[in-house]
Amino acid sequence: MRLHDPLNTLPGVGVGRMKVFAALGLHTISDMLFYMPLRYEDRRRTAPIGDLVPGVKVTVKGTVSSFHVRKSASRNLFVATLDVEDESSSASVVLFGGYRSFYSIRDGAGIIMYGMPLQKGGVLEFQNPDYVILRHGAEEAPPDFGRILPVYPTTKGLPRRVLANLIFSCVTSPNLSIDDPIPADMLKKRSLSGLRDALRGVHAPSDQDEINNSRVRLAYGELFEMQRKIFLAREARDRIVAKPIQQDAVSAGRFTSSLPFELTASQLQAMDEICRDMAVRRPMHRLLQGDVGSGKTVVALAAASACACAGFQSAILAPTTILSSQFYGEAVKYLSPLGFKCAELTGGTGAKDRGGLLDGLAGGEIDVLVGTHAMLEDDVSFKSLGLVVIDEQHRFGVAQRDMIYGKSVGAHVLLMSATPIPRTLCMALYGDIDSSAIRGKPSSRKPVVTRVLSDNHMDELYKFISSRVKLRERCYWVCPLIGEDDGDSVGDSSVMARTADMEKKIPGVSVAKLYGSMTPAEKVSVMERFSSGDAGILVSTTVIEVGVDVRDACVIVVESASSFGLSQLHQLRGRVGRGSRAGFCILLDSAANISGNRRLEVLTKCDDGYVIAEEDLRLRGAGEIAGVRQHGAVSLKIASLPEDLNLLEMAREDAAIK
Ligand code: ADP
Ligand code: MG
Repeated sequence: MRLHDPLNTLPGVGVGRMKVFAALGLHTISDMLFYMPLRYEDRRRTAPIGDLVPGVKVTVKGTVSSFHVRKSASRNLFVATLDVEDESSSASVVLFGGYRSFYSIRDGAGIIMYGMPLQKGGVLEFQNPDYVILRHGAEEAPPDFGRILPVYPTTKGLPRRVLANLIFSCVTSPNLSIDDPIPADMLKKRSLSGLRDALRGVHAPSDQDEINNSRVRLAYGELFEMQRKIFLAREARDRIVAKPIQQDAVSAGRFTSSLPFELTASQLQAMDEICRDMAVRRPMHRLLQGDVGSGKTVVALAAASACACAGFQSAILAPTTILSSQFYGEAVKYLSPLGFKCAELTGGTGAKDRGGLLDGLAGGEIDVLVGTHAMLEDDVSFKSLGLVVIDEQHRFGVAQRDMIYGKSVGAHVLLMSATPIPRTLCMALYGDIDSSAIRGKPSSRKPVVTRVLSDNHMDELYKFISSRVKLRERCYWVCPLIGEDDGDSVGDSSVMARTADMEKKIPGVSVAKLYGSMTPAEKVSVMERFSSGDAGILVSTTVIEVGVDVRDACVIVVESASSFGLSQLHQLRGRVGRGSRAGFCILLDSAANISGNRRLEVLTKCDDGYVIAEEDLRLRGAGEIAGVRQHGAVSLKIASLPEDLNLLEMAREDAAIK
């Protein structure tokens, strides 16, 4: 029996059960053995019936000395009353269930049970204890009694006991062969147990210490394998020779002096770090982190300009059509005047344009290509790709990421993210990646005034918004739900319901809506209406979360704000106050949800995305940090962050040993 064998090689697992296992995401023996208990039930205490203490859970072994079943008042429910005795005394047992559930019980049968005896009249009584009727002559207690019993999350069609016994017999089987992926000397160095012992220790533990140590070892193993992959990928990348991109001071100066603003010190520093990376034959792999509105776009364009000066092409990849066209607009604005040719390729690009565009890329006439994952198609090829920029990189899935890396062999890679990820987590996700951070915002940006507001004040809020819209400002209104079109299921806090309500109560103001299931073309056209001012209010789901830049947007309202992560709210807030006018962010929720809600208060006082991300990490765990959620740190099954940070450190160190 090997770890990668499918589960149906185990006795008692047939087609039906395989389906249930599959629903839990379990396909192989390994999947099952890495399926962790939710909690444990300590069933080690066994006692003769004469020594039972009312109210204390215990395992008891005895013989059924009398057995009666009667129908209860409610339909289909039967009540069985048993007397169970051992040498010391006897107790009564009451069981509820369908008639058939008692089929194995008979006078004289051996029984083992676990439960809490209670004093009932003069006798001790167990109500619905967990029990098993012992097969005649069976000496050995079944594995679910008299030990620390793991309790697993399970699902319909797979009783807890079946799963627990299956795992138990598998993990204790002498036929199970296990290769430990962690080298023995590493385990020795860290005083960790081998994989076999650790698996045994979580599924068939003999005490609490064994559970703890085993869990640590498994968490370490998980983190080690993750870090090893990251390390090997990095090594492989480092072996590839990239095109060195050297930029002379004159052309670098031409880019910066053509900008309508002064670059901030941290933008300049990021540019410098990127240009140094690109100047050598080792491919750049750098993460550029910067809060929303910190000005990452122009830094990426500076890199693209350096590339173009050196005769290489750049590809800039955005997660959505909206973000792509926005980026493309900026590219044209800043790069065309310097004589560089930009083009955009998305899923919506027509066949004719696409043909010409592909020729331009292959022929080298196009210097900078901005687009969505449409540019990952096979027939898109570059004459000499020097740089790949991935904007809002965490929004690309693993498969897309691999495709991007596959297509950009030998090119320098710049990853960008608007969600500052706490340093420690960053390491978990990327290993020792080079990273540049833009701290602070261009000075033209004003802080966004943030308030937490109870939804009792809706009328005043509507008044406020309509007054701002009349000043030609724009307002975002974010709802957690879309809401169905078909009428009856329109919930509160939905885009549809909110739009309808506004159209009734704020006459004279045009309201647009935006949500994920619209086609890319529809989204672009809605954004155009909003950004041109044809629509004063945009009611949307969080699709506007990242990147969108509408200069006159000054107010953002988020409904049911307490259901969002802080980082996510902070990102949403970054959509406003981008121009020279002040921005307002209203976090709306029911009075009950806001009273005493310290979490939301953090946002009213703090404007630093890093601090907010740390706060999210502290309050809600790694899974809540936008940008981490999609990445895989949360697909960790055993380890959890930030709790296991010290293990992560160890694993990272060990994984980098050749
Ligand atoms: P993000 O980092 O969120 O992608 P953007 O690159 O979209 O931010 O920048 C936000 C806005 O700030 C853009 O309109 C951009 O033109 C402007 N901007 C960027 N850098 C500066 C600067 N140094 N001074 C003034 N405005 C700037
Ligand atoms: Mg951006």
